[in-house]
Amino acid sequence: MNVIFEPSLLFISDENWKDEEKQDLFLEHLINHLEMIDRFDICKVWWTDELQTILIGNPNMHPWYGSDLRNPIIVAISQKFYNRVDIISEADTECQVNPNLIITYTNQFANDHFLKLVHTLIEDGYNFYLCVGIENRLTSPNQYSFFCKCHQNTLNPILINSATNWFLYLDTISKKYFPTSIEDFDDKFKKAIEITVNCNFVNSVILYEYSFETEFKKSVVNTERNQTEILKNIAKRLTLTTPQAQADGSLQDKAYKGKQKKDLRRMRITQGTRVDYKLFESEKIIIFVKYFDEGDYDDSL
Ligand SMILES: [Zn+2]
Repeated sequence: MNVIFEPSLLFISDENWKDEEKQDLFLEHLINHLEMIDRFDICKVWWTDELQTILIGNPNMHPWYGSDLRNPIIVAISQKFYNRVDIISEADTECQVNPNLIITYTNQFANDHFLKLVHTLIEDGYNFYLCVGIENRLTSPNQYSFFCKCHQNTLNPILINSATNWFLYLDTISKKYFPTSIEDFDDKFKKAIEITVNCNFVNSVILYEYSFETEFKKSVVNTERNQTEILKNIAKRLTLTTPQAQADGSLQDKAYKGKQKKDLRRMRITQGTRVDYKLFESEKIIIFVKYFDEGDYDDSL
């Protein structure tokens, strides 16, 4: 499923653009969406030649487009947007939308062509994610319905009000990020952890810098079982202080005994599986050492 950008996400009036605060909010909202879509390789952005013509044809309509290439945000927006665009043809007529969209930009044709783009998707029966501009966000559970007189089906796209909303839908694809080789381990595992924290431990943040020893990578890529539990408990550990982790029944976090193993700790994943890691508390660093599958470890620390 692809995403459609509602015009007020991309277009802004001159008046609002000249207001520094509004300009910053507008650019931040747009770049946050594009960074999420890019970072997690979520989907393409459906777009049409007609909308493209408006975007590049009228200088007043696209203040971020090539207007100031010294501004790194504007450069990043241009690159990330065009990397994702998938041009489709628009329908001959507009569809309707309920509730109505607030038009905050100057050229109302952008809204007409947006509704023609959505009409094509009604014709083809494709649902989509809908990213909206700041003024067109709706409070949950409200959503937009797109419909027309010539077709029977109504489309209720998945509304993405702000970039962090994407995490609600990334959970289902986080398995895609579970590493299957040592080579891409760090990038994939860290993305999977980031998704897991945002889906399962909302309002928590990762408190440590963390990395993985080769032994850990080898033991994890070879496991098919418990992938969700591994991600969930590691994500949880990274968001807790050590006393909180020790007190947590699902982690049963504890230190090894003996001076030689003074930084080494063990945490629970499931009933029969554990992870060993090194903790450097004052530096806030965790290094994961090894995952023990069922029957692989001796519990006398
Ligand atoms: Zn129709």
